[in-house]
Amino acid sequence: MAHPLLTKEGGDKHLLLGNEAIVRGALEAGVAFVSCYPGTPSSEVPDMFYRLMPDSDYYFEYSSNEKVALEVGGGAALAGAPTLVTMKHVGVNVAADPLMTLAYIGTPGGLVLLSADDPGCHSSQNEQDNRYYARLAGLPVFEPCTAQEAKDMTRDAFALSREFGQPVMLRTTTRVAHVRGPVQFSELPGAKFGPAFEKAPLRFVPIPVVARMRHPELLKKLDAMQEASEKSPYNTVKGRGKIGIIASGMARAYVADVADEKGCKGEFKVLNLGMTFPLPEKKIARFLKSVDTVLVVEEGEPIVEQALRALAQEKGIDIKITGKGKDLTRLGEFSTAEVRAAMYRVLGKRLPKTGSCVVEGPLPMRPPNLCAGCSHRSLYYAVRKAYGDEAVYSSDIGCYTLGILPPLSCADFLLCMGSSVSAGGGFAKASGKPVVAFIGDSTFFHSGLTGLVSGVFNNHDILLVILDNRTTAMTGHQPNPGVSTTIHGDNPCQVDIEAIVRGCGVCNVVKASPYNYKATAKAIEELRALPGVKVLIAEEPCVLFAKRTLRQHKPMVAYVAEQTEAVRDCLANLACPAFYSEQGRVEINEHQCTGCMFCMQVCKDIKARKRSA
Ligand code: SF4
Ligand code: SF4
Repeated sequence: MAHPLLTKEGGDKHLLLGNEAIVRGALEAGVAFVSCYPGTPSSEVPDMFYRLMPDSDYYFEYSSNEKVALEVGGGAALAGAPTLVTMKHVGVNVAADPLMTLAYIGTPGGLVLLSADDPGCHSSQNEQDNRYYARLAGLPVFEPCTAQEAKDMTRDAFALSREFGQPVMLRTTTRVAHVRGPVQFSELPGAKFGPAFEKAPLRFVPIPVVARMRHPELLKKLDAMQEASEKSPYNTVKGRGKIGIIASGMARAYVADVADEKGCKGEFKVLNLGMTFPLPEKKIARFLKSVDTVLVVEEGEPIVEQALRALAQEKGIDIKITGKGKDLTRLGEFSTAEVRAAMYRVLGKRLPKTGSCVVEGPLPMRPPNLCAGCSHRSLYYAVRKAYGDEAVYSSDIGCYTLGILPPLSCADFLLCMGSSVSAGGGFAKASGKPVVAFIGDSTFFHSGLTGLVSGVFNNHDILLVILDNRTTAMTGHQPNPGVSTTIHGDNPCQVDIEAIVRGCGVCNVVKASPYNYKATAKAIEELRALPGVKVLIAEEPCVLFAKRTLRQHKPMVAYVAEQTEAVRDCLANLACPAFYSEQGRVEINEHQCTGCMFCMQVCKDIKARKRSA
């Protein structure tokens, strides 16, 4: 039976994740091409396209990084294909170069860029607000706050993109990506190609003289799109009164909740902004003139707020504008409690006591930890045995960052995807200290390669460990160019990492399985004695991937044969989460133990036995 997201007819309601709703919205828009680099909170979107591909008529690919995804998608949109390109917010940094020019030359087939922002850094290295990118590049922005809107706005973003031949940004945040709600379907038209490509180098080849002509074109289109924003059904006014609220994106949901409460009902006139760039300035000016004071509620940076202040000044509107401050910070996600506090403040009312379901105090922290039996743990153990605190550890983006805490302590600094090689090389040059850099296979293909080439060229002195776990583990086991098996079967064009590393000019390359302690320790010792860039490829599939996709099941597990100092050492220094300590005894939880057999190689009092179940 076909997946519900592929239901041809409209009319029915389905309970969907925000990210699933985006997929449906793109299908309703007749998407013909989808490219991506996976990253939380966007990953379910491309993963769903990947799953649906066999029964659909669009083309889908996982690209090696976000820049490539946007370039591939940009090419497809030039060829007339309605195109969706997905990434998380920091991915847009990688894709920024083609993005700026794509807005100049345009995307005749229609192109929607999903930027999944992560206020609160749930799974990211920063909480940048990509609405700034939209303004920098000149992309209209839609900001959904429900699953239904995620679907409708995706479809309508395509329509706007095709109407103007310009790329459009769909900016989500973690909460809307993962919200679940009812979504009413419209009909599926099937992939709908736009106009065929007609050669026009004076539009599509932005040599300086062309770029100078295209910039005013872009500004003209933005003016026209502002008119679309004035009429947009996503920019609407509700309620009446002299106290105004202008809310955008996910913040609209918090405002709606509070505005419905007993103490607030009927007190506010609310302008909801779903299309937040270009702003509907005429509508906003009318709104500002109709109220005495306005509270701006937006997550992230005060982008709308600053635009309102400028607009009020320009139009000579005398109004009190409040927004970011004590209650509504620039940090993290909002909650109903914060928004309520801000709304009661503008009402001049005392904040009512909060209900009993509010959690008192901060929730207990859950430290970052590698899974039981993760081969990164074995590798880190061997590296620390060899170098201890003598080396500085340059980390990268991926599961291996989870080795940050003691006892592994294998991440001393990190900048961004692919930075471990180059930042490590720079650190080594500047400090003369030994540096061990870690990178995963997917991240290596993403942007580690260029750093490696440069490191060899500039004779950086580092040991680079490529933790090749045969998948892109942290974002949900997406394939990358180096893997042999994907969830859809064999990869006939597997790229050989060792051959690439050698091709980049690295002469000293050793491959070892991190589960083999002796071989790994020997390789580290051999390589650390050598000058320049040397590479250890630590190859072992992620245990979750091995179990779920490769169907590997290890029949043996570890158990503590004797309670000795060596076992307590093993718990203290390896700290596999399958270990636990009870009444002074160290034990191993059979259900957590994956049978990687590593602890037995470093502690003689731990032995193997058959799994009982
Ligand atoms: S064999 Fe040892 S190290 Fe491996 S998962 Fe089991 S307890 Fe952990
Ligand atoms: S998901 Fe895989 S690679 Fe990531 S920590 Fe767990 S076992 Fe290791």
